[in-house]
Amino acid sequence: MKTSVSWLDARFSSATDDHHGAAHDPSENPGSKVLVVDDEVRMRASVGDLLQAYGHQCELAAGGDEALGLLSAGGIDLMLLDLNMPGIDGFQVMREVKERYPDTDVIVVSGETTFESATEALRCGAQDFLRKPYAPEELIRIVGSTLRKRCLERSIRDMNRCLEASEHRYRFIVNNSPDIIYMLDNSGHFVFVNDRIKTILGYETEELLGKHYSEFVHKEDIEKAKYVFDERRTGSRASHNIEFRLLCKGSSLPYRYFESRSITIELSAMGVYTEQHAEEKEEFIGTYGVVRDISERKRAEEVINFQLYHDLLTKLPNRALFRDRLNLAISQAKRSKTKLAVMFLDMDRFKVINDSLGHLAGDQLLQTIALRLNSCLRDGDTLARVGGDEFNLLVPGINGREDAAMVARKIMERLKEPVILDGYEVFVSFSIGIAIFPEDGQTIDVLVKNSDMAMYHIKTHGKNGYEFFADNMKATFHRQLSLENGIRKALEKREFELFYQPQINLLEGRICGMEALIRWNHPERGLLLPDQFIPLSEETGLIVEIGNWVLDSACRDLKAWRIQGISSDIQMAVNISAAQLMQPEFERSVLDTLTKHNVAGSQLELEITENILMQDMDQAVSKFQQLAANGVRVAVDDFGIGYSSLSYLHALPLNTLKIDRSFISGIQASKDRSSIVTAVLAMARELNLEVVVEGVERKAQVDYLRRLECIKAQGFYLGRPLPSDEIPGLVRNG
Ligand code: C2E
Ligand code: MG
Ligand code: MG
Repeated sequence: MKTSVSWLDARFSSATDDHHGAAHDPSENPGSKVLVVDDEVRMRASVGDLLQAYGHQCELAAGGDEALGLLSAGGIDLMLLDLNMPGIDGFQVMREVKERYPDTDVIVVSGETTFESATEALRCGAQDFLRKPYAPEELIRIVGSTLRKRCLERSIRDMNRCLEASEHRYRFIVNNSPDIIYMLDNSGHFVFVNDRIKTILGYETEELLGKHYSEFVHKEDIEKAKYVFDERRTGSRASHNIEFRLLCKGSSLPYRYFESRSITIELSAMGVYTEQHAEEKEEFIGTYGVVRDISERKRAEEVINFQLYHDLLTKLPNRALFRDRLNLAISQAKRSKTKLAVMFLDMDRFKVINDSLGHLAGDQLLQTIALRLNSCLRDGDTLARVGGDEFNLLVPGINGREDAAMVARKIMERLKEPVILDGYEVFVSFSIGIAIFPEDGQTIDVLVKNSDMAMYHIKTHGKNGYEFFADNMKATFHRQLSLENGIRKALEKREFELFYQPQINLLEGRICGMEALIRWNHPERGLLLPDQFIPLSEETGLIVEIGNWVLDSACRDLKAWRIQGISSDIQMAVNISAAQLMQPEFERSVLDTLTKHNVAGSQLELEITENILMQDMDQAVSKFQQLAANGVRVAVDDFGIGYSSLSYLHALPLNTLKIDRSFISGIQASKDRSSIVTAVLAMARELNLEVVVEGVERKAQVDYLRRLECIKAQGFYLGRPLPSDEIPGLVRNG
């Protein structure tokens, strides 16, 4: 018999529409406790008995007060509640329960059956309404289904909690992935992107959702990106590790800005499909992908690439990059029928600077020079460091030789200013060889080789200048090359020889000294003068060994002459090169040589040029002071044509100034005068220095010097350089 109010039936049908069997099985709701609240003793007791008979745990309360007391002790799952009770009635109990024990379900069991009371009961939170009198099965059924529903709700709640936790966990994992994870719909619009987008590119996720991927890709990389973002394959066939750049938030034109603010990413993408049901075709719903920020790696790669193609000291391109650029420029010049210049620049006397000031200063010099050279160039030009002090320069798009010459002149002009190294002013010059495409060569190798040859040509013809390649240089070049090899062998083969030129005391009319001048008995080319091999020897550093040989031979000859009766007041003048002076043991080796041949220090005069002095004054001063302490004399050779600063005259222990022959060459007749010679003589007297005038070629010059009371002179008129064995005879015969 159905006793529930009919509308309540409809309201609770899903929960109460059970088969009876299930309702009777208390094991479904194990441990659930029911509180029976009724003011009628019999009613209370019979309901309690009935429920216990069906396996429910039961508590009984005679009224609202008692019920609330039991509720407060906790553990009540369901309450069967009478409405009409003295004291606190059912409605009040329900309100209390709704507020304080929302977890407790309430079934109203009442004789009251008005619509209002049922509505009110419902409003107060009742789960069901059972009218008295009721059939026991009815009660049992409603209690069972309420408890079951309650149990069901609880497990749904637990399940939801689990789902939420799981969702939370996955969201956490996805959002904290170091990579950007995204999904696109089938037309390429973002439907999902994780929070990483914010830290890597600066966008809020909402800014991407609904937008097309192409809005965020560097425009040069769109094609590559299409390949991955449009990926429809799955599994191992899906594209991966494709690199491109994404735009960071806030980037805008121009292009450079883009580039620096964009991030290169590597993307693994695959198509996403709906689950396949047997009867329907797979449907492509979009792309899933992982985007990794590899900017750090790219930067590292860039550094490595830079190192492969640049000189690390000057940061200039290296030979490999130069060849690459030249190759491109040649093809471009061919197409556009324009010309280009390849220049070979070699610093003059770099080795001397490097040896004297140290490698650190040498490095600093190269860096400064690289900057200066670069400042002479246009954007399209390429300057590369291809060796210690060698640079290659590519000047594309020129009209002809004059354009190239202009660049070379600009470079030379720019290098005129001294470089300050360790507080010293260092003057740097370059020998520049130029080859023009297409006339001087059409390939990389020929152009570089010919510019090198032109450089070599200027180097061996006075340095500090530029020269264009010319066909006849090939012969000179090869001659120079074989010369260099020849010099190396000449020492072993004893092909060098010393000639001696007398220095004359004009007032006494006697020989007072000899200058040792080196000659080379070349096996094929005959007797070679110093200009033909000394510059090259200096450039290659061979001069140190040659210089040692000269000093040793001059002392040996001096000793030999003495044995032949030549007076020991004849002085020996020996020319010294910069590289020799810079040798750490220079003064030691000079003194050792003197001892070896038993020659007094006062018999030796070392000739150095002003330019050598300027390169490292401090070193020169300390070395010459030690030599001077042993009596060795110092002469400044070619005085007057070098540096203008005369401060060294005070700093060095000097004995002699050798006035360059260019100052006397103007004296051709007895009426001629040379104010420079007069001035130098006056200054020398003031400084207590001796003077030797060089290059005396005629009698008028001797007469002029005598009138000035100049004591010493040297020149072809007074005596040509002669081989050693002719000297004793010459001295004896006056
Ligand atoms: P220098 O030291 O100024 O030597 C004088 C040069 O002038 C010598 O040339 C000599 O032959 C030349 N000469 C002498 N009198 C006259 C003259 O009346 N008229 C003209 N026109 N020239 C005259 P040389 O022997 O060809 O030497 C040239 C330079 O080579 C020397 O200039 C010196 O700087 C260098 N040199 C020569 N021997 C050596 C050496 O053993 N070691 C080093 N480091 N350099 C040397
Ligand atoms: Mg000399
Ligand atoms: Mg001289």
